[in-house]
Amino acid sequence: MSDSFSQKSMLADLKVELDGLEEVGQLRFMRTVSGPQQAHTMLDGRPILLLCSNNYLGLANHPRLRIAGQKAVEQYGCSAGASRLISGTMRLHGELEEALAAFKKVPKVLVFNSGYVANLALLTTLVGAGDVIYSDSLNHASIVDGCRLSRAQLKIYRHCDIAHLEELLKGSAATFRRRLIVTDSVFSMDGDIAPLPEVAALARRYDAVVMVDDAHATGVLGAGGRGSAEHFGLDYNDLDLQMGTLGKALGSCGAYVAGAPQFIDYLINKARSFIYSTALPPAALGASLAAVELLSEEPGRVARLRSLTDYFRQGLRRLEIAVSDDPTPIVPVVVGDPQRTMALSAWFLEHGVFIQGIRPPTVAPGQSLLRVTISADLEYSDLDRVLALFAERRNEFKL
Ligand SMILES: *Cc1c(COP(=O)(O)O)cnc(C)c1O
Repeated sequence: MSDSFSQKSMLADLKVELDGLEEVGQLRFMRTVSGPQQAHTMLDGRPILLLCSNNYLGLANHPRLRIAGQKAVEQYGCSAGASRLISGTMRLHGELEEALAAFKKVPKVLVFNSGYVANLALLTTLVGAGDVIYSDSLNHASIVDGCRLSRAQLKIYRHCDIAHLEELLKGSAATFRRRLIVTDSVFSMDGDIAPLPEVAALARRYDAVVMVDDAHATGVLGAGGRGSAEHFGLDYNDLDLQMGTLGKALGSCGAYVAGAPQFIDYLINKARSFIYSTALPPAALGASLAAVELLSEEPGRVARLRSLTDYFRQGLRRLEIAVSDDPTPIVPVVVGDPQRTMALSAWFLEHGVFIQGIRPPTVAPGQSLLRVTISADLEYSDLDRVLALFAERRNEFKL
């Protein structure tokens, strides 16, 4: 009886909080995509143009990935059955890790169930009490959570501010056992790129290790889509730990960590989110493996993504809508107020274009934005249509 009372009072509390979110335009809800993840799909039973997925290369519904996923299921079934260290390491895990190591040009790779848990694993395993983490102020939530759980001292440097990072390194380098600098390579909401050569140089000068999150760079940056290292001409000696997801441009799910063998062996032995979680299932592994092979054979997809992105950014600029010239498919259009942002998102949807609005706490207050993402399976004519819609509302929304 007392339980049901506490449930009632807790539900009442939660309702007050949810109502509060709704009042300030920050209540979140989900929209159901009823077709596959691809540029032209269905939402709530209506055809729409999908401009907010991270499926940058349009691989999520590619026949080659679908067939590879099906074959993996036929051959190996639906589950890994256990964590990798119990009975869950299957042939496909090894094959995918070898393919990713060759693709990333690193000695060794370990696959994780998602980018979120890969970041938790890296940050809680490799540093701890007595160590220090230097983290960019706009790093992804999974990095923020990993830093909090690590028990290392946390020093946050201003977004992409190398001088500030150096100041923090200078002030504290000698006092800690291990020093880790962590940054997104492509920032997930703004689409800008971290100054990695400068970060790597500072790391060497101050005896720190660099961890880079290539979630939005894998399949996107570099001529072959190999990520931020390829983009800047760096390697695994400069960027000690590179992680990336298989769930965005690579069209499947899961994540990888790439680096020197000792890092990987240590993670296998110590990373709790690796040790205590059922491994990725065959379908995801088969599809990921096909994506890596396809990307190696057809780097033209990466070039197409870049041309479409340039075309769209130029189109917005012609409308005098402020956009950066970053070569990434994440194109934020700042509206400011959360309610107005969601109203504009709803208007686009009425016109058959799905662009998600992003509000606090994901972005800073007053910085709510429409986050447009480009994917390689769009046509230039699709982008013309979207640009025409932006042209209709730009004055009224002061874009
Ligand atoms: C999406 C994302 C992740 C998490 O990857 P998942 O595989 O989706 O869990 C990690 N870091 C960044 C920067 C991301 O955008």
